[in-house]
Amino acid sequence: MDYKAKIEALRTELRTHNHSYYVLDMPTISDYEFDMKLKELQQLEDAHPDCFDPSSPTLRVGGTITKDFETVVHGERMYSLDNSYSKEDLEDWEKRIQRILGDVEVQYTCELKYDGASINLTYENGRLLRAVTRGDGFQGDDVTNNIKTIKSVPLQLTGDYPPKFDIRGEIILTLEGFAKMNQERLANGEEAYMNPRNTASGSLKLQDSSLVAQRPLECLLYSIVGKDLNFDTQFDMLEKARQWGFKVPQVAQLCKTTKEVMDFVELWDQKRHDLPYETDGVVVKVNTLRYQEELGYTAKAPRWAMAYKFKAEQVATVLKEITYQVGRTGAITPVANLEPVLLAGTTVKRASLHNADQIAKLDIREGDTVFVEKGGEIIPKIISVDVNKRPKDSQPTVYSTHCPECETELLRKEGEAQHFCSNDSGCPPQITGRIQHFISRKAMDIEGLGGETVELLFKEGLISNYADLYELTVEQVIPLERMAEKSAENLVNGVAASKEIPFERVLFALGIRYVGETVAKKLAKAYKNIEALMQANHEELVAVDEIGERIAESVVQFFGDSTNLALVHRLKSYGLQFTLSEEQLQNQSDSLKGKTFVVSGVFESLSRTELKKLIEDNGGKVSSSISSKTSFLVAGDKMGPSKRTKAENLGVPIITEQDFLGMV
Ligand code: AMP
Ligand code: ZN
Repeated sequence: MDYKAKIEALRTELRTHNHSYYVLDMPTISDYEFDMKLKELQQLEDAHPDCFDPSSPTLRVGGTITKDFETVVHGERMYSLDNSYSKEDLEDWEKRIQRILGDVEVQYTCELKYDGASINLTYENGRLLRAVTRGDGFQGDDVTNNIKTIKSVPLQLTGDYPPKFDIRGEIILTLEGFAKMNQERLANGEEAYMNPRNTASGSLKLQDSSLVAQRPLECLLYSIVGKDLNFDTQFDMLEKARQWGFKVPQVAQLCKTTKEVMDFVELWDQKRHDLPYETDGVVVKVNTLRYQEELGYTAKAPRWAMAYKFKAEQVATVLKEITYQVGRTGAITPVANLEPVLLAGTTVKRASLHNADQIAKLDIREGDTVFVEKGGEIIPKIISVDVNKRPKDSQPTVYSTHCPECETELLRKEGEAQHFCSNDSGCPPQITGRIQHFISRKAMDIEGLGGETVELLFKEGLISNYADLYELTVEQVIPLERMAEKSAENLVNGVAASKEIPFERVLFALGIRYVGETVAKKLAKAYKNIEALMQANHEELVAVDEIGERIAESVVQFFGDSTNLALVHRLKSYGLQFTLSEEQLQNQSDSLKGKTFVVSGVFESLSRTELKKLIEDNGGKVSSSISSKTSFLVAGDKMGPSKRTKAENLGVPIITEQDFLGMV
């Protein structure tokens, strides 16, 4: 098979697997096999840039940077929906429709109302051309590069799709994906996101599309707009969209009467708690498209559709006690301990109170009867107090002044919502939290050691910081609960093996606030060893690409603390990696700092991927499209003529592979 055919075959195969996995939720291949095939395709594409295809499955990983999202006017306006809250509302709506349409039989398609961010996707000849946010309904932002990273958005359609159309849907985060994201954020010492909807919507406007690619976003579709479409009803439209490769939830149902509509609403008001994503209601649509046209629009919404909003479920229960939780960074979260109560299918015993302001605002007191709601947030929250039921001897809540774990006086920095315990070296949950972070999978990944064992080791007085791990002996560990000789050996060996973990991960493991995985990588690359980083001052740190005030301040503070310095020295003495490896160093410099490159064509001495890596390793940036900000276009053999013309028009210097290699 020639390479062109091979590339096409791989693309088609990967698309099919992608569709099975992300759209149908029925995997047809193992993750490993998928990755191997994707890698093979990537290598072939690198070797044959003449086969470049903007719809290739290899482009799902992102990597483009968008500074300003271009404003695009929608071909057809994106309307809002009218809301209804009762059976009567729906019946009134039906009467209004019948008045306009006359005496005809009207059927309805009921869909769930997905709670996310609306998006308009334009397809031309079966390929995704553009993705634009709803914006104000008339115009939105072009977020195509970000949307391309969402695996359930097909880049290439199959079947009898029309040559050009728009399709609308909602970008959502599944509850599971959202919870996972938050776990990772907490592990990085960052605050958790509040709810999936805002997080999904914020994700669309991230500048770095590779960050979007990492978020478990999905796209659920509900409406096609365009000319000469080959279907006559809303219900058939959904089925067509499925056939072409879009993700359209199967729960949609055709209803003949408003009675059937109400049955659907009542059914899903119950069953929605079992869904993998959030829904805040049902959207009822007149099924026949010809009738939709006849009904038209009001100033704000279609007359042919109606949202039926579910009531957020609420229950009343008694607040028994307010307790305070201490996180790894010392941040305090007040927690409401409730009389257990059934809400939205689960028993609720606790609710978050967020912070002192929240408690004061609602005047929440122990002994109060409170209303608890499960809305967008995963942890239920208290929305109000039933003051009529307040006990006679009730006293206003006085926010804890001291840490519940170590008695240290709590502080609250100006402008911060959270109180915190500053006793980072002596407060038990902070100590174990930091060690647990240190050993976690993305940090030192210590085999044979888990979070509970850390707590046990701490309780037994065997460790009081992460450096102590490196002095543990098998004899010390064996007597612990649930330990045996074998597991004790595994633990000690696991600790020893972690000495090979590369510098950037050690840096992440130290648990410097706001220094997550990506920031740790940036800092390791910029400073190359821990000494240089320890000496860096605020101004120098801020000058590093993507390091902001908040991170810089936190780094300076961390290394300004003698306890932390002593820990780092000890870790060094045990042989942990505190410099970039020889290999990493050899391939690095700052010689391309501040320069942005566009790479195009085939090269002789190295592949395109290698060339891009070389640019990044030397401090330069790679961009996929030419703009006035491009410093150089590195032109290989068989470069597309449009790139050349654009570079020439903008006065961007065009250089050869040899010119480039001379620069590094
Ligand atoms: P609202 O923003 O409350 O006026 O609701 C209108 C929005 O609901 C639309 O812009 C859509 O993005 C969203 N929506 C979610 N699910 C659906 C659906 N199945 N059909 C139509 N719109 C939907
Ligand atoms: Zn404390």
